[in-house]
Amino acid sequence: FDMFVLAFVERLFRPTYKKDDFVLGKKLGEGSFGVVYRVSLANKPSSKEGDLVLKKATEYGAVEIWMNERVRRACASSCADFVYGFLESSSKKAAEYWLIWRFEGDATLADLMQSRDFPYNVETLILGEVQDLPKGLERENRIIQTIVRQILFALDGLHSTGIVHRDIKPQNIIFSEESRTFKIIDLGAATDLRVGINYIPKEFLLDPRYAAPEQYIMSTQTPSAPSVPVATALSPVLWQLNLPDRFDIYSAGLIFLQMAFPSLRSDNSLIQFNRQLKRCDYDLVAWRKSAEPRSELRKGFELLDLDGGIGWELLKSMVRYKARQRLSAKAALAHPYFVREGLLALSFMQ
Ligand code: ADP
Ligand code: MG
Repeated sequence: FDMFVLAFVERLFRPTYKKDDFVLGKKLGEGSFGVVYRVSLANKPSSKEGDLVLKKATEYGAVEIWMNERVRRACASSCADFVYGFLESSSKKAAEYWLIWRFEGDATLADLMQSRDFPYNVETLILGEVQDLPKGLERENRIIQTIVRQILFALDGLHSTGIVHRDIKPQNIIFSEESRTFKIIDLGAATDLRVGINYIPKEFLLDPRYAAPEQYIMSTQTPSAPSVPVATALSPVLWQLNLPDRFDIYSAGLIFLQMAFPSLRSDNSLIQFNRQLKRCDYDLVAWRKSAEPRSELRKGFELLDLDGGIGWELLKSMVRYKARQRLSAKAALAHPYFVREGLLALSFMQ
């Protein structure tokens, strides 16, 4: 009862918008299911480039609005700040869903990882100043560790809410300039199992570069009409049984891998890596044996081997074939890789 009243009252007092309230700016992206623009409010032209983002989405927009509404009530800091979503059917075209977020910043993790200066460009963003410490593996590791922790923190929020994102990749992780942290965007392929909204799986939406192997098991189901979320009695039991959240953990593990190994950052090299890993039956240790001689990978292994190989240990427990052998986001956050003080105390005692 309280939940619904609160949600209703909250919705009542939030500003509502319609099509004509927005002035379109630069196009930020275009996928098969929508177009994203930077926009500003028509009655507030002071903001030059626009401090909002608009996604005009096809029929999938309905679920994306639902997911964003849920996120803003349950785990707001995990994702880009959602403002409002509505059905736009005033024109003669097919109906569109319009989704509005606050503009979080110019750079996604994908943009930042493309820079030769990565991960130092991220350090500058997070700390807002240039460090005068010498550059080197230890420092790079510390920055990467911070990024992985922020991604896991955001994922833990989503998963604790019952939402599986299913499209975790650097392109869907944005650096929020205001909070100086990474946030997740693009809930267009997300599912919610816990509350009982089970969106019909649309595996064709999933990005094969970052998808965990179990997608191929699920995709044998026939896709059905996508327009209506179907309420079913799926719930924590199913969650426990299938551990769908571990799908995102695998994707996050691949991002960790790409950050550690500069030569695996391009699309092509990631696709090749996936092929090699599959040939190794998804056994990272076996992959390492075959890849260790490659000189372009040396630096990455060195980074992951720091502090007794604690980074490599974490990576191995995220990128595993069986979902139930992967760590949850919460468990990963408690991994010694992130517990610097704990580690120091431990080495002091030894
Ligand atoms: P798509 O379905 O096209 O992948 P996304 O939601 O991922 O849509 O958004 C596309 C792009 O728009 C992102 O990669 C990012 O560059 C930009 N973008 C999306 N949301 C925001 C936001 N809240 N703030 C700043 N940029 C954003
Ligand atoms: Mg996207």
